[in-house]
Amino acid sequence: MIDDYGFVPDTTGLPGVPARVIAQHKDRYEIVSRRGFSFARLKAGAYYAGEEPFPTVGDYVTVKEIENGDGQILHTVPRSSFFARRASGTAVREQAIAANFDYVLILQSMNQNYNLRRLERYLALAWQSGAIPVIVLTKADLAEDRAAFLTQAEQAAPGAAVHAVSAQTGEGLDGLRPYLQPRRTLVFLGSSGVGKSSLVNALAGAEVMATGGIREIDGKGRHTTTRRQLLRLDSGVLVIDTPGMRELGMVEASDGLESTFADVEALLGRCRFSDCSHEREPGCAIRAAIDAGELDAARWASYQKLQAESRDNEDLLSRKREWSKNVAKLNRLRKKRPEA
Ligand code: GDP
Ligand code: ZN
Repeated sequence: MIDDYGFVPDTTGLPGVPARVIAQHKDRYEIVSRRGFSFARLKAGAYYAGEEPFPTVGDYVTVKEIENGDGQILHTVPRSSFFARRASGTAVREQAIAANFDYVLILQSMNQNYNLRRLERYLALAWQSGAIPVIVLTKADLAEDRAAFLTQAEQAAPGAAVHAVSAQTGEGLDGLRPYLQPRRTLVFLGSSGVGKSSLVNALAGAEVMATGGIREIDGKGRHTTTRRQLLRLDSGVLVIDTPGMRELGMVEASDGLESTFADVEALLGRCRFSDCSHEREPGCAIRAAIDAGELDAARWASYQKLQAESRDNEDLLSRKREWSKNVAKLNRLRKKRPEA
């Protein structure tokens, strides 16, 4: 059963049996293991010291199975990829919202919603996650000049494959087949209305997600997207769809930015002055490239903005990490200290 839900990492030597988290309901996790679907909760002692990352959808965990009850999650297996967001509130906290996916499909629709700056932001996040980004331009049937959209996306996303598709006509869907292999996990990034649900349904050949902004409403009158957050399509491919993806900000993404803006970074080392502010110094490679039409001024502005954002977050996060380390240490000391 669990083998249908991904490429399960080797957990020999760890206590418990391997399982994959397919949904999270507050402190209760829905998991799949060799026994099939069940529920589990964190084993407090294993997690409260703050060193073990809390599991999220897509995580592989090890579980102590309990007869007729919720299992106990003992350990989060190191992730091959993950997305994190800044948890709400003033304190900067990194919170994983999806883990262990192979491809990030970045969706942009070929109409007035098309936005290269947003594409760059998603791309930086995708590279940072550790998975492979794939650009998917949706609603191809609406585009008058498809080639122009494709060229712009290819320029903004060097190193990533770009596909044009229409969920309506089915055009271009075959191009996505290489990513839709059994046991591979996909996530989709894109703003609401971009055609994500329609695309997933077209790929699934079934209505697995509600489209057109109509969402299921749960018992408390809240809107929910899907019952299960890690879906298995009939083809065997796995799709993670979590509401958290919509709030995905830019936590620290310096590596992701490096890949997204490889062209810009290549220019940076070429200014005459090593501390060039790229404003009006002589011999500035950035200014020269912009003047020569080789670098889009908007792309440069986007790079600077995302860099600044990433740096701010990095500062805050490193302070936060330092703080959690101290808390963990304190907890360990407390445990060791004999009862007074
Ligand atoms: P989501 O919010 O990203 O999940 O977007 P939906 O899948 O719900 O689609 C938003 C709207 O775009 C709906 O009205 C869809 O019918 C429409 N739509 C989605 N895909 C296509 C497409 O390929 N072509 C056209 N013309 N419309 C589409
Ligand atoms: Zn310069």
